[in-house]
Amino acid sequence: MIVSYRCPQCDQVHASTPVEESGTLVCPCGWNREISTAVDAAGHLKQCVACGNGDLWRQKNFPQFWGVVIVAVGAIISSVFYAYYQPLWAMGTLMLVALIDMGLYIWMPDVLVCYRCQTRHGNISTEGHSDFDHEMFEKYRQDAIRLQQAAAEHKDG
Ligand SMILES: [Zn+2]
Ligand SMILES: [Zn+2]
Repeated sequence: MIVSYRCPQCDQVHASTPVEESGTLVCPCGWNREISTAVDAAGHLKQCVACGNGDLWRQKNFPQFWGVVIVAVGAIISSVFYAYYQPLWAMGTLMLVALIDMGLYIWMPDVLVCYRCQTRHGNISTEGHSDFDHEMFEKYRQDAIRLQQAAAEHKDG
């Protein structure tokens, strides 16, 4: 499994950290968390490995950057064909680009993102989880704000 998370102890962001499904997530600061409890016997992720939250959404791990690059290159090639009065080739290039984009999207693996701490889990089965739900996201956002306010009040009082 590949995990991108923010350490709850030192607040460092760790991108694409490979971890064993049976191992432990360890931050250089000393914070660690058992992973085996988050993965069931069938290898499905039940909860976030960083915070233990069970609500995760599924999304494509599509690199936005490459999507943009492919479209830009396609547009340039297409306009060259137009300049040389080859409208069919120009159209064909644009269609090919659209196909490549679609293919990339389909073949890109899914990642699971935690609603609470936005930890991303890649290279793991996404079975049993649904796509992004805005209402759920809003609920967690409100909770986080409430927690922050409570902590601030606690500090003041
Ligand atoms: Zn840390
Ligand atoms: Zn989490």
